[in-house]
Amino acid sequence: MQIAVSGGKGGTGKSTLAVNIAIALKEYFDLTLADLDVEAPNDHILLGIKLQNEEPVELFIPRFDYSKCIRCKKCAEVCEEHAIITMRDGTPFLMPTLCSSCGACKIVCPVEGAILQGKKLMGHTYVTKTPYGFPLVTGKLLEGEERAMPVVVAAKKRAKTLNKELLIVDTAAGTSNTVSKALEDSQLIIAVTEPTPLGLHDLELTLKLSHIMGIKARIVINRGDLGNKNNIRKLAHRYKAEIVAEIPYSENILKSYVEGKPVVLSDCEEAEIFRTLAKEVADYLR
Ligand code: SF4
Ligand code: SF4
Repeated sequence: MQIAVSGGKGGTGKSTLAVNIAIALKEYFDLTLADLDVEAPNDHILLGIKLQNEEPVELFIPRFDYSKCIRCKKCAEVCEEHAIITMRDGTPFLMPTLCSSCGACKIVCPVEGAILQGKKLMGHTYVTKTPYGFPLVTGKLLEGEERAMPVVVAAKKRAKTLNKELLIVDTAAGTSNTVSKALEDSQLIIAVTEPTPLGLHDLELTLKLSHIMGIKARIVINRGDLGNKNNIRKLAHRYKAEIVAEIPYSENILKSYVEGKPVVLSDCEEAEIFRTLAKEVADYLR
């Protein structure tokens, strides 16, 4: 089984919800939490742990064996990214930042062994033990690298190989193709929003995406006491997505960030919200 925690712009409290609900859901399922917000993963920070068991995420780039290359320029001609430039005599050179790793150059090269398998580092994945009885899988895109998809795919694959009863994915903000990839195979999306015009706008995009992907959505309103929730209620009604929890603006949650100790572990009122939500999710999944 898989559920996803998703939502709009960064800072809506998506990761806070993901780590707290993961801890609370551990009571019901053997689970893995996967942080697929690969451009800015922060679940490990909220859990107060250091990332471990690093594995590289690498893609193909061509490496030329100039002793075999016949300077035919075919590799440069086929490259849609213009990542291969050639000298006047046909000698090819790669501009690695432009290469999309499509492999077309290797396919068209008429000389066996003139293009060798090179590797381009895109980022890393990690599997980290947490003190809460479940592993955290994290994808982290290399700084300056723009293509997040290979890292999302690699991290999700690594999370699935752990073969737990439940996989909780914490997606990036928004509705990009990497978010869709993270959401794939989910039985439920918990859409985190806040009562602001931007929050409402982003929530609608998330609900639309869940509708297109045929995945049920539930809504959690973060900082629910700071704005008008009527429009969120209307949107929830329109998309048949129940509002399952409201989290108030909370000093206790802020303190939990500072201490790196998830709030669900405490006895405060906010902890009970996460525990109740986890029970509802567990009931839904079973
Ligand atoms: S792998 Fe694709 S993008 Fe990269 S150099 Fe070859 S043809 Fe161009
Ligand atoms: S296609 Fe192969 S042989 Fe032709 S220029 Fe490129 S690397 Fe050299």
